[in-house]
Amino acid sequence: MKYLRFSHNNEIKYGILEKDDVILEMEGDYSSYPSRHKHPLSQCKILLPCLPSKIVAVGLNYTEHAQELKMAVPEEPVLFIKPSTSVIGPGEKIVYPKMCAQLDYEAEVAVVIKKTCRRVSSEQAGEYILGYTCFNDVTARDLQKKDGQWTRAKSFDTFSPIGPFIASGLDPADLSVELRLNGQVKQSSSTKNLIFPIPRLVSFISQVMTLLPGDVITTGTPLGVGAMNIGDTVEVTVAGVGTLKNNVSGENNI
Ligand code: MG
Repeated sequence: MKYLRFSHNNEIKYGILEKDDVILEMEGDYSSYPSRHKHPLSQCKILLPCLPSKIVAVGLNYTEHAQELKMAVPEEPVLFIKPSTSVIGPGEKIVYPKMCAQLDYEAEVAVVIKKTCRRVSSEQAGEYILGYTCFNDVTARDLQKKDGQWTRAKSFDTFSPIGPFIASGLDPADLSVELRLNGQVKQSSSTKNLIFPIPRLVSFISQVMTLLPGDVITTGTPLGVGAMNIGDTVEVTVAGVGTLKNNVSGENNI
């Protein structure tokens, strides 16, 4: 099943995608029942699929990416937070900050939380997952190196493109993820290569903080990160989910 947020006649709704081109509208959010209203996808605008209170990001979760950054493979998950104000949806512009000299893409598989989640085991984690989506952990790489910690580098407005759909019923142990920059494949891997698999991450993070419905865990990026420039088009594809496409814009061009 694919969940989405969309606008239709200037109203924002939650829905389920049927047959790839029809949206079945929900009565309320994803926890509500489906209504009787259906809309052709072509008459709707797809919005970012959830409104997280926080995005919990995992750093260095693929061995080859840790090596390319010349960083040690961690013994337990390395966590950082991206603010709720950094999210954008499919088709929205990533803004290249004037403060930044190297803007990198990072393709990731993201997990969307279904219900309040606190101190769960790896075995219980699946009950708390609504589904999976595409995420681009946009990073000001020069500022990440300069600051020594990651808050500024990861937190600019527009640095968390997410979407287009939240897909349920997928196997989190083998989700392929690919990134294309201006049509060229730059990253290609699968969650089978994660150092810490998805159920372990949900469990680990839930020992630290309460996860709320709509919160996002983004699971780390594979080998092949690199720079984006103004005017570039960047696409993240997760098999079974779809493709998240965004263009990069200058601060003065929006
Ligand atoms: Mg990342």
